Amino acid sequence: MGSILVVMENGTGGFVDSSKELIAKAKDIAKALGMSSVAIGFGSEAEKNLKGLSVDRVIAVSNPELTQYHPEAYEKALAQVLQKDQPFLTLVANTTMGMDLGAGLAARASLPLIAYCSQLSVEGQEVLATSSVFAGKLMAEIVVPESGAVISVMPGQWPQDTDRGDPPIDRMSLDLPSSMKILQLIEPEKGDVDITKAEILVSVGRGIDNPDNLPLAEELAEAIGGVLSCSRPVVDAGWLPKSRQVGKSGQTVKPKVYMAFGISGAPEHQQGMKDADLIIAVNTDENASMMDIAHYGSTVDMLDLMPALTERLRGE
Ligand SMILES: Cc1cc2nc3c(=O)[nH]c(=O)nc-3n(C[C@H](O)[C@H](O)[C@H](O)COP(=O)(O)OP(=O)(O)OC[C@H]3O[C@@H](n4cnc5c(N)ncnc54)[C@H](O)[C@@H]3O)c2cc1C
Repeated sequence: MGSILVVMENGTGGFVDSSKELIAKAKDIAKALGMSSVAIGFGSEAEKNLKGLSVDRVIAVSNPELTQYHPEAYEKALAQVLQKDQPFLTLVANTTMGMDLGAGLAARASLPLIAYCSQLSVEGQEVLATSSVFAGKLMAEIVVPESGAVISVMPGQWPQDTDRGDPPIDRMSLDLPSSMKILQLIEPEKGDVDITKAEILVSVGRGIDNPDNLPLAEELAEAIGGVLSCSRPVVDAGWLPKSRQVGKSGQTVKPKVYMAFGISGAPEHQQGMKDADLIIAVNTDENASMMDIAHYGSTVDMLDLMPALTERLRGE
């Protein structure tokens, strides 16, 4: 009997939510294909955290040094598991860790990697994966080959598994590779304003074009009672601090209103804001991916719209 393997990622106080989402999907797929669901966890709390999962089997690699992601060691352990168990699917969340690990693991095991996966379904005996390509402009539907695959799944696609179980535990010991040592984990700085607490975010992307245009966005944010945030290129250009960045390598936000000005809506950006209650996209390109998830969209030039909105809000 084949298996569906989920690689669990450690967060603060247990596994991250995106790993628990994968458990729910792995169980569904395993059931539909007559396979078993298996989860693997790393670090000093691995056994404790894995024990309650409602899967058929768990594998604990309990070296304390592996509580934090260690690319080489995780890959080494997983390559051994893949060689021994030959799971049909190996699921990782498309997080910073999952993207790194998924690619390395697929290369080591000579398996295809299906990245940025947003949907997985079973039709007959086939598994179909939907993957977003070209920064979310196209969705590719891929039939998973019989040899299996490593799949990195976008967080937030399915509800988390909340069932409790008591699966049998396999304990795996691992000699740590000596070529790499994790010295320090650096969290993104919270900085001046905590954008995760704001109810209204006025967010600007590369469409702002020039730092001299930033006051237009700042004034609008002030007039509407919101806070200014941005996409990554704005931070990379040094126009706003990292603490204002929304997305995969920035902050995850869930405001009541998210106004995206000149932001294309790449998967890495959407990952940080797609759960906002109301999304308003302003983009001269009507085909920008942000338009697909926006509740309201405008193709007006943001540099014209922002001052006009500010004026209206101020009642001028
Ligand atoms: C590992 C990794 C992590 C990443 N993490 C993040 C992250 O945390 N956050 C993030 O944002 N990105 C992140 N990225 C980058 C991401 O892939 C995109 O490159 C980025 O989000 C694009 O930013 P943007 O939408 O501002 O720029 P672009 O994609 O260049 O889009 C600019 C948009 O502005 C529109 N526009 C231009 N002029 C105007 C105008 N005058 N009026 C209205 N619209 C206009 C254009 O039509 C275009 O759609 C990450 C990438 C990787 C590989």
